Amino acid sequence: MRHILARPQREVLAQLSFSNVLLGFDFDGTLAPITRLPDQARMTAATRALLVELAGLYPCIVISGRAQADVARRLAGVPLRAVIGNHGLEPWATSEELRRTIAPAAAALPGVELEDKAYSLALHYRRSRRKKAARAALMRALSKLEGARIVGGKQVINVLPPGAPHKGVALERERDRLGCDTAFFLGDDETDEDVFALDRPGRLLTVRVGASRDSQASFCLKSRREVDLLLARLIALRHSAQRWRRAR
Ligand SMILES: [Mg+2]
Repeated sequence: MRHILARPQREVLAQLSFSNVLLGFDFDGTLAPITRLPDQARMTAATRALLVELAGLYPCIVISGRAQADVARRLAGVPLRAVIGNHGLEPWATSEELRRTIAPAAAALPGVELEDKAYSLALHYRRSRRKKAARAALMRALSKLEGARIVGGKQVINVLPPGAPHKGVALERERDRLGCDTAFFLGDDETDEDVFALDRPGRLLTVRVGASRDSQASFCLKSRREVDLLLARLIALRHSAQRWRRAR
C-alpha cells in the first residue's frame, strides 16, 4: 500500500486541501489508541488539539461502531459536523419514511402490529387470523419501498432502511447532506472496509491505519502514531490553500 505521507503523495493531499471535501474519521484505533478496556479509550491531548483545529478548517465527521451517545461524549468540545454511531446505523432518519409508507397498510389488516424500533420496523402478524393473506398483503405494500431490506422471521417481517446502513453509506449520506464534492476517510478496521470498498474515482480518498494486503483503501499510515502527523499535514495544507486563494 502507498504511504499517504510519502513524497509521491504530496500532491494528493495538496489537491484535497483545495477541494470542497468532507473529512471522516473512525474513532477507536484511529483517533484514539486501542485500550484493554474499551471504556478507557480517549484521544491524547495532542490529537484532540489537532482535531479541533482541523474541524475549524474542513467539515469533519466521526463514524464509529460505538453507540452514538458513547462516542459523542468522547468527542465533546470538538466542532464536528456530525457524530455517527453504530457503524452508520445511528442516527438513521429513514425509518420515519418507512413507517409513513407502511403504517396505513398495516393498520388496514386486522391482527397486524407495527413495531417501530427506531432504526428498523417490525411487522408482526402472529395475531392475524388469516396469516398467509396478511403476509401477502404486507409484502405487496413493502414492494413499493425502494431499496428497503426485507428480512423474514417467525410471523414477523423486518424492514430495514434502504442501503443496508454501514459506514460507507453514512459517509456518502453526510457528504451529500453537507454539500461536499468529495470525501476523505481514515480508519483502521474491518468495518472501515465498507468505506474503503466504495469505488468512487476522484470523489473519495481513503487511508487505512496500518498497511494490510487485503485492504481496499487507497493509501495507508504505518501506525496510529502517525495519525497526528496526517492531521497536522492537512491543517498546514489548508492554511496554504487559503493563503493562495487570498493572494489571487
Ligand atoms: Mg477502529
